[in-house]
Amino acid sequence: MEEGTLSSEQADQIKQHLLTQLNSFPEDKQEQIKQQILSMTVEDVEEFVKENQLDHLQQCVFCSIAEGKLPSYKIDENAENIAVLEINPLTKGHTLIIPKEHAPKNATSAKELAKKVSERIKFFLKPKTFKINSLKIMDHPVIEIIPVYGEDLSKLQKVKASEEELSNLQSELIKPLPIPEEKKEHLTSKEQKKEVEVEKLPPSNEIVEKKIDSIPKFTRIP
Ligand SMILES: [Zn+2]
Repeated sequence: MEEGTLSSEQADQIKQHLLTQLNSFPEDKQEQIKQQILSMTVEDVEEFVKENQLDHLQQCVFCSIAEGKLPSYKIDENAENIAVLEINPLTKGHTLIIPKEHAPKNATSAKELAKKVSERIKFFLKPKTFKINSLKIMDHPVIEIIPVYGEDLSKLQKVKASEEELSNLQSELIKPLPIPEEKKEHLTSKEQKKEVEVEKLPPSNEIVEKKIDSIPKFTRIP
């Protein structure tokens, strides 16, 4: 990176990002490090980024996650958004809905995914309620879904989750949802029968024959 390439706004964004990493330091060092970060000048930030090869911090962290440049625990996605587990969760199942575009035209599809993911969390983790926040971090809009199990959120602190916790939670939350009983009842007996029939059908001979036809014939070597 060339010197003088950071605007003061970018430097502030990087500082904000560094502050979100305070949890990874011992508690008694956090205040000191926080003060150090806050007192960094633009040049200090540039130097820091250069020394630590943190060039990706200059990019928006959410764009990097959406592009797969930063690792994340994805639990769902739709065409325009991804849902990932917050790595410093406030409660179990704390999830972020991140639009793939830095500046999406509207939030409709993000809200749709938030609703879908909340239902999934509700089924598997059984929270009492949710706190849903629309945030803008580094100018990137993000919807935060915080499951509430009865605790007072204002008294909680974000705590870094272990990789094991996150990957276990990810496996739990991506399991298929069972069809609710009421929906099953709505199916007519004919539709239910159809489902069973389809499952029991033996592989069609026609398909097998077609596959055989499509295997290229050997060419004879002269
Ligand atoms: Zn972004």
